[in-house]
Parts: sequence; structure tokens; C-alpha cells
Amino acid sequence: MKTKCPKCKGIGSVVVDYKECDACGGTGYEDDLFDVGSHFKGVNSKAKAKFDLGSDQDIPCEVCNGKGQVEVFEECPHCHGTGQINVCRDCGKLISESIDLCDDCKEKRKVEKMKHDEFEARRKAARDVYVLDSLCQMRDIDKDKLYRGKITRIERYGAFVSLNNNVWGLMRGDVSDYNVGEEIIVFITAIKSREGKIDFAPAYVD
Ligand SMILES: [Zn+2]
Ligand SMILES: [Zn+2]
Ligand SMILES: [Zn+2]
Repeated sequence: MKTKCPKCKGIGSVVVDYKECDACGGTGYEDDLFDVGSHFKGVNSKAKAKFDLGSDQDIPCEVCNGKGQVEVFEECPHCHGTGQINVCRDCGKLISESIDLCDDCKEKRKVEKMKHDEFEARRKAARDVYVLDSLCQMRDIDKDKLYRGKITRIERYGAFVSLNNNVWGLMRGDVSDYNVGEEIIVFITAIKSREGKIDFAPAYVD
């Protein structure tokens, strides 16, 4: 992201030194030869009077504004005279022209996007709870999808869950909070077709 160079405030040059003003020789005032009268020739008398200062009053040098010194500029080394620098869009760190984010922020965004995608995927999966009809077989079900089932047996090591009369499996873990006959939403963690076994885990959906 391009931004105004903070070192030169976008001007592209910085003051590196001061030198004596050439116009006034460093005095800060117009020299005595300056003829107020002829300078304001043609200007109406009222306006002229405003500037028609007495000879004892000095007129500030208009080149240096009376300071007697002028600034010496040099190309800003921070932005190489362009007045602009390229910074990371997220953290504002100075980075190479060709990129928009520093490596740290790029990584951070990647991780955040992954987290977000994962969250979205889970949310989407949670919306789709499948209910098997009575004709469905084990081959009709998919791993990682959510299914509505019923607890048919509770053992010390887990609960048996039926999705219909043909398809059932084991939900391992502490099942002391469940009751036989209770409806439950599960997702499938493993399908062992050869053994005809399915592993379930409880899914928590609202
Ligand atoms: Zn001057
Ligand atoms: Zn600069
Ligand atoms: Zn950054």
C-alpha cells in the first residue's frame, strides 16, 4: 500500500542544511537600494502608503522571510525522492514495492483465512443433518457428515447408535449422560466396511 513518506511528509525532499540567503546577504532585510517608490509605481496611493515605510524601518527579505537563511534541500533518502513509500497494508511496516503485505501479516492472514474456512465448513456441515430412510445401507453413508440416530444400547465403553434398521455403529467415550431410545446427532469418524462397523462421535448442533 502506497502512503505519504512520513520523513519528508510526501514532498520528496528534506532539509539537510541552511545557508545564507543570497537575496539579502544574510541580513534578512531588503538592502538599502530597494526603492519602495518605484516598486509600487502604478499602485494607488492608499495601498502605496501602507508599504511606504520610513527609511529607518527595514523591509523583511521576501526570499528568506526575514530569517537571513534559506533551507538546503536534498532528495529524501527514505522514499528516494518519490514522496511515497510502500507499507504493509496491515501493520504499516516499510516493505518492497512489489508486495502489499509483509511476510508476518501474510502468514497471519493465511492462518485467519484457514480458521475462517474451517469454521464455515463446520457450520455448513452442522446445518446438514441427514436422516437415513429405511432402505439405506452402510455404503450410502459418508464419513464426516452428520446423521440423526437413536441410541439402542449403552455399554461401559460407549453407546450403540442406529441410523436405521440396517446401519448402526458405536459411539465411544463417556456416554453416562445418554439414555437408550434417545435421539442423537452424530458424525461418522470411521467406516470399516469390511468389518461392517461404523464409529460415531457426538455432534453438538443447535
Ligand atoms: Zn533573504
Ligand atoms: Zn520521503
Ligand atoms: Zn505487516
